[in-house]
Parts: sequence; structure tokens; C-alpha cells
Amino acid sequence: MVKSSILGYPRIGADREWKKALEAFWAGKLEESAFENQLQDIRLNHLRKQKERGIDLIPVNDFSYYDHILDTAAMFGIVPKRFAYEGGAVSLSVYYGMARGTKEATASEMTKWFNTNYHYIVPELDGATPALTENKPLNAYREAKEKLGIEGKPVIVGPLTFLKLSKGYDASETDAWLDRLLPLYVQLLTELAEEGVQWVQIDEPILVTKVSEADIERLRNIYGTINKAVPGLNILLQTYFESVESYEAVVQLPVQGIGLDFVHGGTANLAAVKQFGFPSDKVLGAGVIDGRGIWKASLREKLSLVQELAGLVSADRLIVQSSSSLLHVPVTVGKETKLLPELRGALAFADEKLEEIVLLTKALNAGEEAIASEIEQYEKDVLALRESSQRNRGDVKQAVAAISAGEPSRLPFEERHIAQQNKWQLPILPTTTIGSFPQSAEVRKARQLWRKGEWSEAQYEAFIQEQIDIWIKLQEEIGIDVLVHGEFERTDMVEFFGEKLAGFAFTQFGWVQSYGSRCVKPPVIFGDVAFEQAMTVEETKYAQSKTNRPVKGMLTGPITIMNWSFVRDDITREQIAYQLAYALRQEVEALEQAGIGMIQVDEPAVREGLPLKEADQASYLAWSVKAFRLTTATVQPETQIHTHMCYCEFHDMIGSIEAMDADVISIETSRSHGELIHSFEENTYKLGIGLGVYDIHSPRVPGVEEMTNMIDRALRVLDPKLFWINPDCGLKTRGQEETVASLRNMVEATQIARNKH
Ligand code: GLN
Ligand code: ZN
Repeated sequence: MVKSSILGYPRIGADREWKKALEAFWAGKLEESAFENQLQDIRLNHLRKQKERGIDLIPVNDFSYYDHILDTAAMFGIVPKRFAYEGGAVSLSVYYGMARGTKEATASEMTKWFNTNYHYIVPELDGATPALTENKPLNAYREAKEKLGIEGKPVIVGPLTFLKLSKGYDASETDAWLDRLLPLYVQLLTELAEEGVQWVQIDEPILVTKVSEADIERLRNIYGTINKAVPGLNILLQTYFESVESYEAVVQLPVQGIGLDFVHGGTANLAAVKQFGFPSDKVLGAGVIDGRGIWKASLREKLSLVQELAGLVSADRLIVQSSSSLLHVPVTVGKETKLLPELRGALAFADEKLEEIVLLTKALNAGEEAIASEIEQYEKDVLALRESSQRNRGDVKQAVAAISAGEPSRLPFEERHIAQQNKWQLPILPTTTIGSFPQSAEVRKARQLWRKGEWSEAQYEAFIQEQIDIWIKLQEEIGIDVLVHGEFERTDMVEFFGEKLAGFAFTQFGWVQSYGSRCVKPPVIFGDVAFEQAMTVEETKYAQSKTNRPVKGMLTGPITIMNWSFVRDDITREQIAYQLAYALRQEVEALEQAGIGMIQVDEPAVREGLPLKEADQASYLAWSVKAFRLTTATVQPETQIHTHMCYCEFHDMIGSIEAMDADVISIETSRSHGELIHSFEENTYKLGIGLGVYDIHSPRVPGVEEMTNMIDRALRVLDPKLFWINPDCGLKTRGQEETVASLRNMVEATQIARNKH
């Protein structure tokens, strides 16, 4: 019999009850025992749901109090010294200390989970003496069995992936660390086997990235050791997010099952299975239902895929499952009441994906006829969206094809630079900010009143103008050279544009976990994206009318909008990016026509869309650059294009950043202590650079001297004529007082630097 399974279920709950419980506990509004009870209810509820829907192999231990990598570190007693941990089970206060920091100790670093928008806590191995402090998977297994009669499938992070994602050790110590960790894994798995556990899912997503010969050797050692020590236990070695590297070696590892992603990297995985075969003594976990996208599957297409796989591995050795954990999609479409019917009908969040998996499994076991009516219904739903007029805008498709046929470019930078110098007559080291000013409680309140209809359009507009007035005056008084209007009308840099462009939809409850209790509700790009009316001209023009200094217009770039949204999967990401670029270009042109001569197009999220496979990266960067140029290249030479990027490692993509051909790029510099400048220097970057001279993530007011030092350091190696001075990022999360004080110091530091250079 074919079995059904998923790799993990979202933790947050349909009403984000998980998030609410965590935050209440942190705020001291919930006792520890009540908190534990609430989380148990949530956890059991999720298991019950899977059981009721008919999932055979239900994952346990996928649930977490914050993050599964943090859980793994805590389970092995890997706690940084600064948290005064003395061994044994890790208390909740130490656990959350690592995640969020305490009064005495800074939090552990957080970073992106592969190419998703989920962030995990990076384990710090230095100084740790690992020990199995508690068998969390075993507890989860027992709980599911005792409370719900569920024969759970414990999920754990594999040793190689865990090590590769950790820091605080030298590559040469990798094997020494494996020697320390492996016995703990053996101990944990032995206890599971003794308890009667049938299947354990060991996640090794690292296997879809580049793996060396040495790593393959390590895998043989790891899984050979486990196999010898715990022979009765079935291990399903799970990969996801891309096709597995070294397929032949991986499928020969001494485990009982291999899980592959047949959605992301699916073509390559399927080709490998066909070319090299799949071992006849192993089970194939076939990840055919997309764990990351939000679209309803065509059951017909998926069925032919699983039938093909069943032919390659025999039906009794097949598990139909999600391509990855469902952590990355919202919980249920059931509560959405405001979407277009053809859109709603074509969505599948976690709960709907359970149904798809169960249906496919049923078809394999009982014959296609068993789900004939569902196949038909799904086909209708998928088709309805595909044929929606919103997806088939001839005007958009033609225009985008026409503009993207060429290579958009401006005059060479050197020539533009002269034209811009002549027009703007700015001092050396011009000062500016990144766009947003503090969104006070008053600003948020006003927006709410307006959204609820309690404030008229005119009332709200007048309020926004007042804010702009205040901040234009403040910026002039502080002595900033290039001003901004402050972005008071925007909650979020993607949502704001999505709400004004055609082709976007917004769910009511489509939240997904980003990190810890923080959830995001990404917009849905479901149709052809199109410009409908000017989006930012009104406020920018108003701001410009209040000052003689230049006001910089402020837009979010095509790649950032795309990477922070759920996107349609019937056309390529490249095409979506060009549609966005075409729409945003019209906004750029509208701003220029309204007399705005400096326009910033923010692209903080370019780096995070980088494909996992090296072979795919160059093309992604090439069309991302092109999308940026499509957005910005039609302006006059005098018009100055700015861009901004933050929290990102640039060293391997300076070439692409340069190719974007923005007149000025502002970057985060202060947190990396000037390291970034170095990479710009090494690559002899020739365009304007705005130096982020202070970290906006802290309420601390930076001193003049520390900023002067930062500027001096940069100017020792770089040309002062191409330098701008600005904070690290937007200031919307800061308070007014500290912002004004910091900017005053920034301007003073700039004066000092100007006198020197
Ligand atoms: N212009 C945006 C702001 O100032 C940029 C935000 C960002 O880089 N994340 O808020
Ligand atoms: Zn930023």
C-alpha cells in the first residue's frame, strides 16, 4: 500500500494562536504551565487534523517553541557560555534567551533557512560540551500515541545539516565535531527504536547544496554507524528545496528510505531516478505536492507523476508527500472570504494540501476512478484561474515582451554624473536618508481610522501632509541635502505597491512564520501585474513643493516586490519581474514628469532570491539586473537613480550591483564595521555609494566621532566625489527624538569630514 505523509505542519495555527501564546508568555502575561498547556493544545490540534484528513505517516517533533534548529541545539546542550547554562535540560528562559537575547547576553545570530523566508537560530559550537539533554522526538512520539493513538513519525535535523548550519568551529574540526555528535544521535535513535517507533524522518536539506567528496564520506560514516547501532529502525533520509547532489551516492546510503523533492528541482530528481534507478530495497518519499507554493495542484498531472514513480519503485515502496515542510505556507484557505472566486478556488494552503496528498494516495491504492470526480473538480478550479481575464492581459503581455526584447541602458555613468553635478550642485559627501521616518503611534492610528472608513480620504490626506510638513522642516533644519517625504502613508514597502497595482490580491489570514513569533502575510501575485494610477506622485510632489532642496522619490524595486510575495506559477519568475518592472517604470516616469529629479528604487531582497544551485545563479542575477534597468533606464541623464540594499552579503555579487547601473547605492556598512566598503573597493566599483554610517536597528544615538571615524576609514580607500552619507536603512521603527539627534550628529560628522577632504 502506498502511504501518505507530510514533512511538517505550520506551527502558528489558523488564528496565529501560537504566536499569541509565545508573546503573552514573554510579556509575563502567561504562567509557564498555562503556556505549556496552550502549546500542547495547539500541537495536538494539528496532529488531530492530519489524522482526520487521513494522513498515514504523521510527523511529530516538527512542532517547536521557536525554531527547530534552536531545538536541536538545545536538545544537545549546545548553549553559548554567555547564557550561564550549567548542563541538563535547557530551561525556557535559557532557550528564549538564545533566541531573543537577555539583559546580560546578546541573542544568537539568526539567518535564512536555505532559500526560504524562514529564519533559524545559528547554533554556536565553540566551548560547548554536547550531551543529550532530553529526547524531544521521543516525548513528541509518546504524546501523539498516548493522547491521540497516532503512530507518529519523529522528525529530526540530520547531523551533517546541523553541523553545516552551525558556527563557532573551524572546517578542520568538522570530523571531531561529528565524532561528538554522532553518539548522541545514536543514543536518541536507540531510545526511539526501543519505544517501537517505525519511521524516523532525518532531514538533510544540505544535500541539495554543493556536497564535497569528504561530505559524502561523512554521510557514509553517519548513516553506516546509525544503521549498525539501531538496525531495527527505519530511517527516511529527507532532502528538499532542490534536486539532490550526488544522487547515486546518496541513494546508496544505508538507510531505509530517501525523500526527494519532485517540485523544486523536480525535473532533475526525476531524471536521476530514471537514469540511475532507485534501489529496490528502499522506500521513496515522493515530494510531489508543493510545500512552498500556495496553488492548488492539478491532480491529473500529479497523478501521472506519482504513477510514473510507482512504476519505477513499485507501489508498496512509495510514500506520497509534500515537497518540504508545510511551514512555508499559510494554514487554511477555509477562512478567506474576500478573494475573487477564481482565485480562492485555485488556492491550497497547508490543510488543502493534506487533502491533495490523501487523494493522490487513494488513487494509487484504489485506482484512478476512486477520485474521478475530484480530479475533474480540481481541473476546473485550476483552469478557472488560468483563464481568468486577470491572467490574460494582452496589453501587458505585449508591452512587456516589447520592452524586455532589448537591453535597457542609459548614457555611461561618467557622462550622467557630470550632467547631474551641473544640475544639482551638491556639496561633496551629500547627506540623505533611506526613505522612511518614524511611524509614530499617531501615524499608525491615523492609517487605521482611514482604513476603517472612520476618516475620509481628505482627512487622511491632510494628516499625511502635516507629517510631511513636519519632517521637511526638520530635515532642512538639521541640514540634510537630499530630502525624503518620509513614507508615512505606507505600512509596508511591498503591500503599499501591491494594493495599487493590478494583479495582486491580499488574503485575510495567509500568515506564515518568518522567525520566532514574527509572521508575515505576503501579497499574492496572481494575475498580470499592471500600473493603474500613479502611486507615489502625490506625496512626493507635495513634499517637493515645500522645499527648495531636492526631494528623492521612493519606490520598491521589482525583485523585492516579487521575492516578498507569493507568485503565480504559470509563468516564470523572470516574466513576473519584467511585468513589475514595466509597471514601476511608469511610476518612475510619472515622478520624473512631476518634477522629481532623484528617484530611489529599493532592492533589499535581491540577494535572498538567489537560487541554491550555483548553475542557476548567474541567470537569476542577470534578469534581476535587467528588471532593475527596465524600471529605471528611461529617465533623463540628469535624473539621478538611487537604490538601497540592506542585510545582505554583497561580496559575491558586486558585479551584478554595478550592472544595475544606479547612480547611487546606499548600503548597510555600520553593522559589518566597514567590511562592505572593502568589497566595493576590491572590485573598483565606479558608481556612487551611500555609506550607512550608523545602525538604525538600535535606539542608541551614535556619537559624532564614531561616524567621523567610519567616514575617514572609507575615504582612505575610496573617491570622496562618489560618496554620500546616510543612515544604514529606513528610520520607521525609530522614535522621533533619537532620529533627530542621530541625524544632527550625522550632519556634523559630515561637516568635519568635508573640511578634511
Ligand atoms: N525605503 C525603505 C525605508 O526607508 C527601505 C526599507 C528597507 O530597506 N527595508 O523604510
Ligand atoms: Zn534597508
